[in-house]
Amino acid sequence: MASGVQDSSRKDWDTYFMDIAYMVSTRSRCPRRHVGTVLVQGKKLLGTAYNGAPMGVADCSEDGCMIVEEFEMQTENGVERMIKKQRCIRTIHAEQNLLLFTDRVDREGSTVYVTDQPCWTCANMLANSGVKEVVYHRAYVKDSEKVAALMQVKGIVFRHLHAYEPPPQAGMDITS
Ligand SMILES: [Zn+2]
Ligand SMILES: [Zn+2]
Repeated sequence: MASGVQDSSRKDWDTYFMDIAYMVSTRSRCPRRHVGTVLVQGKKLLGTAYNGAPMGVADCSEDGCMIVEEFEMQTENGVERMIKKQRCIRTIHAEQNLLLFTDRVDREGSTVYVTDQPCWTCANMLANSGVKEVVYHRAYVKDSEKVAALMQVKGIVFRHLHAYEPPPQAGMDITS
């Protein structure tokens, strides 16, 4: 809670760019998950994106989420069990939108800040996108180990901002 009131109150770059990613995430119209992401080259912001339906297509706030159910294997205390999960597939993920709306040249050697740990598909695409670093805040356990292993093979720095706290406004929904 005390973040932002230290007397050297200037934000570090990780906080600065993750705060922007959170503000971007408030644009998402999917009530199940708001994800925001930004592309940064050096200290320069080169792109922003959030999860959403393709332009001109009804989004989750208009037509409801498009839910699929999936089974996932989880291991707890050495015991494997199947867990049923629901997921909205109406939206293009934030990371994929970021790749659709930025240029390859801008991505080479750049850093992606994303509010949530990328899913496998997004990680796979990021691994082939030219970015050299991916920084996330909220953990997403599904395929987490696979994703981390992929980043390592590709030599992409994969950082979890454990101590980060999102700006309070980012929890609010924008209704227009
Ligand atoms: Zn949705
Ligand atoms: Zn994804």
